[in-house]
Amino acid sequence: MKHAPLVESLIEAFTCLPGVGPRSAQRMAYALLERGREDGRQLAGALTAAMDGVRHCQRCRNYAEHDLCPICQDPRRDAGLVCIVASPADVLALEQSGEYRGHYFVLMGQLSPLDGIGPRELGLDVLEQRLNEGQIQELILATGTTVEGEATAHYVLDLAREAGVSVSRIAQGVPMGGDLEFVDGATLAQALRGRRPFST
Ligand SMILES: [Zn+2]
Repeated sequence: MKHAPLVESLIEAFTCLPGVGPRSAQRMAYALLERGREDGRQLAGALTAAMDGVRHCQRCRNYAEHDLCPICQDPRRDAGLVCIVASPADVLALEQSGEYRGHYFVLMGQLSPLDGIGPRELGLDVLEQRLNEGQIQELILATGTTVEGEATAHYVLDLAREAGVSVSRIAQGVPMGGDLEFVDGATLAQALRGRRPFST
């Protein structure tokens, strides 16, 4: 039996989500149509609002609704200290550690030439420009310890060296090959306090 075209296209649409195959997509569509019409309308509204209204902060590349995100706008934060992370989830994890009062730079990925992700895709040209402006005193690398994380860290290290900015790297407690978002707040706080100068 084939679905009605609208049901079919709803199922199809859900499969764009990470980790959602045809079966889960079908379950989601049925659930909303059967018992969650209001939830479904809210979901549709939230999706449209976010897709139209969310952009990247011009300073740190994190998600923002205005030119600057709330962290970059906050005058109480130390603009001389910038933590380099791979994703907005990592910013959240570090914020929840309660330990960090500096700014961020969010790469929205890691260097991965085979997947076509080079320095430009990660905004590293923007970072280079910011490093040369002279306001940044220290970079903290928190790009994770995967192969891509390592490659990214070394690229950023070279940029910082050229600009004469010191670089440290969080280390303790962050598992090898691990992603920051899965590390608990206490461990991250510890990792930030125990950061070490980074060099090759
Ligand atoms: Zn920002």
